[in-house]
Amino acid sequence: MTLLRFAPSPTGALHLGGLRMALYNHLYAKKNGGKWILRVEDTDSTRLVPGAVDGIRHALEWAGLEYDYGPGKGGPHAPYFQSERLDLYRSYTTKLLNSGHAYRCFCSLDTLSEIREKFARMGSGQSYDKRCLHLTEEESARRLRAGEKHIVRLNSSAPMPRRPTADLVFGHLKDAHGSLATDPVLLKSDGYPTYHLANVVDDHTMGITHVLRGEEWITSLPLHLDLYSALGLEPPEFAHIPILLNPDGTKMSKRNGDVKVEDYIRGGWERGAILNWLALAGWGTQYEADTPPESGSGSPTAETPAPTKNEHQSTAKEAPESTADQSPMLTSNKHLRTTKEAPESTKVMNMDELISEFEISAITHRSSSLDPGKLTFLNRQHLLRSAATPAGLADVASRVRAWMNKTESLNEISDELTTPEYIESVIRVLDSRLINIHDMVSLAPYLFFEPDYNSDEASRMLVGITADERSEIAESVYSALGTGPEDGEWSTSNLHEVLTTTRKRLATPRFLPVLRHALTGVKAGPPVADIMAVLGRDRTVARIRSAQQ
Ligand code: GLU
Repeated sequence: MTLLRFAPSPTGALHLGGLRMALYNHLYAKKNGGKWILRVEDTDSTRLVPGAVDGIRHALEWAGLEYDYGPGKGGPHAPYFQSERLDLYRSYTTKLLNSGHAYRCFCSLDTLSEIREKFARMGSGQSYDKRCLHLTEEESARRLRAGEKHIVRLNSSAPMPRRPTADLVFGHLKDAHGSLATDPVLLKSDGYPTYHLANVVDDHTMGITHVLRGEEWITSLPLHLDLYSALGLEPPEFAHIPILLNPDGTKMSKRNGDVKVEDYIRGGWERGAILNWLALAGWGTQYEADTPPESGSGSPTAETPAPTKNEHQSTAKEAPESTADQSPMLTSNKHLRTTKEAPESTKVMNMDELISEFEISAITHRSSSLDPGKLTFLNRQHLLRSAATPAGLADVASRVRAWMNKTESLNEISDELTTPEYIESVIRVLDSRLINIHDMVSLAPYLFFEPDYNSDEASRMLVGITADERSEIAESVYSALGTGPEDGEWSTSNLHEVLTTTRKRLATPRFLPVLRHALTGVKAGPPVADIMAVLGRDRTVARIRSAQQ
């Protein structure tokens, strides 16, 4: 059975590069009817960060990347923490020592650094002169019995079959063994294995069939293949995935807070969009032809992967409103609204679609940088997809409410404007204006708070409009609302009809700006009738009245 593993070292929070690696392992496993393991590589005690494992598990859970075996789940390959598998590494070390593929090295740290310096002076990158390889068996055994501190090294000159260094992404690697350090360390003096030994032993004993890991490990591949040969084992298949870069092309690092998955969770991003975004970064040229049209529109920056800033469309020069969607923003983004018409580079895909489309052969050979513009594009698309089904809409609304509840500045919003139904109606009316759920209130504050008629923006909206004109418009709207065919019914389509008829009768271009001013106090936003539908009759009438004062 196809079996993969995601093997993070718990040295900090999970970053986007790590999440992408877990995702690729998940996609490959699921596509091939296989399973994957979460294995915690915690043998370097100097780099462990308390709480890191919980953080990694939480991020995977949020992303819906459910491992089949691992911490908290168990499974046939337990334990899943390398620190609990030390006996296994020791027993494999003994095998290698017995077969002559490894030897004990008693050199002190000082001796080792002298040797390294000597090589460096000669312009050689070699780090060890193999002097302990030539110790007699008796000498080595005597020093061992005497309790001398030592490490165990691979004897890379021992006879063993050299396998071609093949990689599913990079193909055949020429002269790969040239990069091997001399007789690498397998077991450290504290009895802990190095990454190389533990990794190979675990991949073998756990029955891993495919290793998908970061490109930074490709230089270790020859050594790992040698270890398999020295142990007489068949290696798994390897696929090294080119690394992910920050938007500015710099390398991602755990020290750099902006790439932490938890920041994106806190920032309100859709998990489907994050996974879609990460999957496409480095996946297949067919997705990389174009850049989506909204790069740079309020996206997470290097410093703040947090809420986005939406531009509202300008409605200063109001077009006649009808039941049709007239907003310039929606019109200009019409082509973004369906998966089919989206630029290939940002094909909108949910998890099932990602699984069915994923191919190792489509992974590019070069590093990919994350484009924040693509995330905003994808986030909007995933929100639109969710909002298109009752269950999806309810889920988005409940996340919005949870966010509102814990955001102090929003605590004054009255209860009737935070009900699930109300939030759902706001999501529907904001439609594709909504890029990130955390933009909801800033995008249309008037749907949650009373408009501020004293603001500069509100005052500017009325420049050149007389008080008489305003009251004539207000009066005609009151009477139209009270006597229309929909009297008692407050629906978007009826409101569009009433407004269209009234506007035509009054024949003034001031009609919609005056109403928009009264309802919102800002010059841009969704169509006026849509806003009225969300606000409800009482609030609409009250606002038109207060704006007159
Ligand atoms: N522990 C390694 C890391 O965190 C895993 C490398 C591998 O997958 O082999 O990068």
